[in-house]
Amino acid sequence: MTDIGRLLEVIGGRNAKTVGLQFPVGLRTKAVELAQEIESKAGVTCLVSADPSFGACDVAEMPVDLTVHLGHAPMPHLRYDRVFFYDLGSPPLKDLGFVDAAIPLLPRRVGLLTTYQFREWLPAIRAHLEAKGFEVHVGPPDRRVAYAGQLLGCDYHTATVIDGDVDGYLYIGTGDFHPLGVAILLPDKPIVIADPERGEARDLKDVRDRILRQRHAAIARAHDARTFGILVSRKIGQERMGLARDLKALAEKHERSASLFLMDLVSPELLEGYRVDAWVNTACPRIAIEDILQYKQPILTPQELEVVLGERDWKDYVFDEIRAY
Ligand code: SF4
Repeated sequence: MTDIGRLLEVIGGRNAKTVGLQFPVGLRTKAVELAQEIESKAGVTCLVSADPSFGACDVAEMPVDLTVHLGHAPMPHLRYDRVFFYDLGSPPLKDLGFVDAAIPLLPRRVGLLTTYQFREWLPAIRAHLEAKGFEVHVGPPDRRVAYAGQLLGCDYHTATVIDGDVDGYLYIGTGDFHPLGVAILLPDKPIVIADPERGEARDLKDVRDRILRQRHAAIARAHDARTFGILVSRKIGQERMGLARDLKALAEKHERSASLFLMDLVSPELLEGYRVDAWVNTACPRIAIEDILQYKQPILTPQELEVVLGERDWKDYVFDEIRAY
């Protein structure tokens, strides 16, 4: 049965009359066509969520009988209510030139990492590397990720769990977003990106060093902050209220004031006008890293607040993660 066949079966099985569709930005081009196909084949009304969709941590609450979420695998530790994750599978693996480009940069014992999008390529890439004499390891998932070798921007378990078995990592994918955390968490090991879109490979060291300089500067700017705003997400897979309360207590222990701010989408425009000296983000860990230049005040991760308050040394810096054990 095709995936659309399975989707139609689920819609029928739930007796849904209204179906919500949630797409990440990269799949928006499919939205109109898919909504029309579902409406004509299932006899339902579709509602496309026009809010951003960042991950399986962020499933839209919609007034529908069933929500169909595309582009991400469900997080096993979350309890979703009336959500179907529609899997489009990996694109075909046409050639391995981009993997060959990475080979001169790799140690013999290598961990293989990727994202949800390219996960189906891992067995072929593993076999290709093993045929060339590499010892290849693929880390099993934890309770937040669905597949072996899969990285999230907030969970690097599949890399750290095989840390003792490998001398470096090969990441299959585009962009620095996912492997950056591995490069910061495991600074002594090379992280090489094999990019299937550009057909090339590169080491992540320079990017890691630039981001660490940026984080050091944010911590220095927040050093004399008296009032912190601690951001807490409403999103199902980003909410860390317990951590936010602990951080508030920690700031107060150091005679700083701290207030909790609850929001769905964390963005600089929505935080204008509040009298805080620095933000501390407990929502998606990447907001403080990726969006820092958009904020007037410094925006820190929880561990960076600990450095500001003298509870953690900079040499013990760690990348913020949301792990589910
Ligand atoms: S919390 Fe952030 S990094 Fe993690 S899955 Fe959600 S959007 Fe991605």
